[in-house]
Amino acid sequence: MKELVFATHNKHKLQEMRQIIENLFHIISLDEIGCNEEIEETQSTIEGNALQKARYVAEKYHKNCFADDTGLEIEALNGEPGVYSARYAGEHATFDDNMNKTLANMHGMKNRNACFRTAIALILDGKEYIFEGRVDGEILTEKHGTEGFGYDPIFRPEGFAETFAEMSAETKNSISHRGRATEKLVEFLSRLEK
Ligand code: IMP
Repeated sequence: MKELVFATHNKHKLQEMRQIIENLFHIISLDEIGCNEEIEETQSTIEGNALQKARYVAEKYHKNCFADDTGLEIEALNGEPGVYSARYAGEHATFDDNMNKTLANMHGMKNRNACFRTAIALILDGKEYIFEGRVDGEILTEKHGTEGFGYDPIFRPEGFAETFAEMSAETKNSISHRGRATEKLVEFLSRLEK
């Protein structure tokens, strides 16, 4: 079976992706190729960051590879936190710090529209591909729910009464930004195998 490196140090993401892609490609971790360093994400877009990570692995380790990057984009905050979602309230910010800053910045604002976007960059036999997933929704005025991670307690996807943090992982994955981008990647990879 063909091998594909997933350029992430996040064990949860790796495990999830392995379950999804298992019968198409053998997914290898960064640890398995001896890449222990943090890969830089210094671009100004999520597409740029995903490509930067995938290119780093492809160029340094000569492997087929994919990488992802996600951002929460809030309309009334001109697209913030966007590419800075992980460190919105500072370099070592917790999920709560980031949510509190978001709620404070949006205090009194009527326009609560937001979306999560994920970009997955794939480098296969020297060719580059980008897959995007997006989910629209709104930012609530307070936190609801304890499931998930990141901004889940304050994000309610369009068409639902619950936040991401009040949903089961299965429901969230079936409509989420990352779920949709992953679906496109899997669709692409499965077409190659036929
Ligand atoms: P990453 O690119 O997947 O590491 O995501 C960057 C940041 O976006 C994370 O640190 C979270 O704060 C936020 N984020 C990404 N995906 C989700 C999600 O599914 N729910 C809530 N927040 C998320």
